[in-house]
Amino acid sequence: MTQTTTATATDTILRQIRDELLNRRSFLLTSHARPDGDSIGSQLALAFTLDALGKQVRIVNADAAPEHYLDFPGLDRIEIASSVPADLAADAVIVMECSDLSRTGVAGLDGRYIINIDHHAGNRMYGALNWFDESAAACGEMVFDLIRALRVPLSPDIATHIYLAILTDTGSFHHSNITPRTFDICRQTVEAGVNPAAMARRVFDSNSFGKLKLIGALLDAMELIDQGRLAVLYLDDSMLELCGCTHNDTEGVINLPLTAREIQAVVFFKVSADGLVRVSMRSKYDVDVRLVANGFGGGGHKNAAGFTVNGPLEQVRPAIVERLVRAIGEGLQTRPEP
Ligand code: 5GP
Ligand code: MN
Repeated sequence: MTQTTTATATDTILRQIRDELLNRRSFLLTSHARPDGDSIGSQLALAFTLDALGKQVRIVNADAAPEHYLDFPGLDRIEIASSVPADLAADAVIVMECSDLSRTGVAGLDGRYIINIDHHAGNRMYGALNWFDESAAACGEMVFDLIRALRVPLSPDIATHIYLAILTDTGSFHHSNITPRTFDICRQTVEAGVNPAAMARRVFDSNSFGKLKLIGALLDAMELIDQGRLAVLYLDDSMLELCGCTHNDTEGVINLPLTAREIQAVVFFKVSADGLVRVSMRSKYDVDVRLVANGFGGGGHKNAAGFTVNGPLEQVRPAIVERLVRAIGEGLQTRPEP
C-alpha cells in the first residue's frame, strides 16, 4: 500500500486529482501541525493556483508558521484552529504532507472528501484520492506537477512557495532525496521570478539575537557520543526563557552539528512542561533516522525524522541513543564517496 507510485500510476492519480479540482468549487487546505517550509509552501502554492481557477479556498492549520515565514505571500490567509471552523463548508479537503490524518492536529476532517498528497514513507492512504510519492524531495514537487496538470501559469507567488518548499525540505540542498527533477523545478521557479539568494537569506538568515544566544547555549550543552559520530542537543523551557525565545526559534538549529565533519547524526530532545519529550533527528548520507523514528511511533525521511514520547527524558533517552548509534553503524557501511 505504501509503495511509491510508478510513473503510469502517477499520471492516473494526477489526472484524477486534476479533474476533481476542476469539478469542485470550494476547498479546505491543510497540512501538519507545527508547519515547516514544505507544508507552508505546498499549501500556499496550491491556494494561489486554485485562486487562479476561480475556486474558493480556505487554509486551516493547527499551529502558526515560524515567524520568518510570516512575510511570505499569503501567510495571512492561514487560519489557525484545532478543529474545522463551524462556518467552513468545502467540497473537498486537500491534506498535504501528512502520513496520517491525525498529523494535521485539526479535528473534524474525518468523513469529508479528502485528497491526500504526501511524500512521507508509510502514508496511511486515508483519502478518497491518495497520491503518495516517496521519491519527491518535497511535497512541493508534487504540487508543482499538479499545477502544471491544471495548466495554471507559475506566478511569482506560486513559484516562491514551490521554491520555499524545496529549499527547506531538502535541508537547503543537503539531504539525499534530491534528483535532477528537483533542480528542473527550481529552474522553472527561478525563471518565474524567484531570487535564490534572497530566498536563502529570508529563510536561513533571519534569526533574532535571542535565537543566536539560544544556539550558543544549545551547542554549549551539546553532548558527543559514539566517538563524536552522534551529537545530542537538549532544550527545556528554562533555556528558552533565558534567551527570550519561543519554540519556533529552535527551527533549523538541529542542522548545525552536522556541519562538523565527524558528526553523522543529531538528536534533539525538547522537553516540555507537560512531560512530553519531542525528539527530532537529522543525519548524513545513508544513516536512516526514519527507521529509528518508526520504532518509537514517529516517521519522516531518511535524513530528517521525528517523534514524541512520554518522559521523563532520563528514562527514554538510553534506548533512543542506542538505536541511533546502531543506525549510524549501519549507515556508514554504505556511505557514498563525496
Ligand atoms: P522535525 O524534526 O522537523 O519536526 O521533523 C522532521 C521530519 O519528520 C518531517 O518530515 C516530519 O514530518 C517528520 N516527523 C516529525 N515528527 C513526526 C511524528 O511524530 N510522526 C511522523 N509520522 N512524522 C514526524
Ligand atoms: Mn515535506
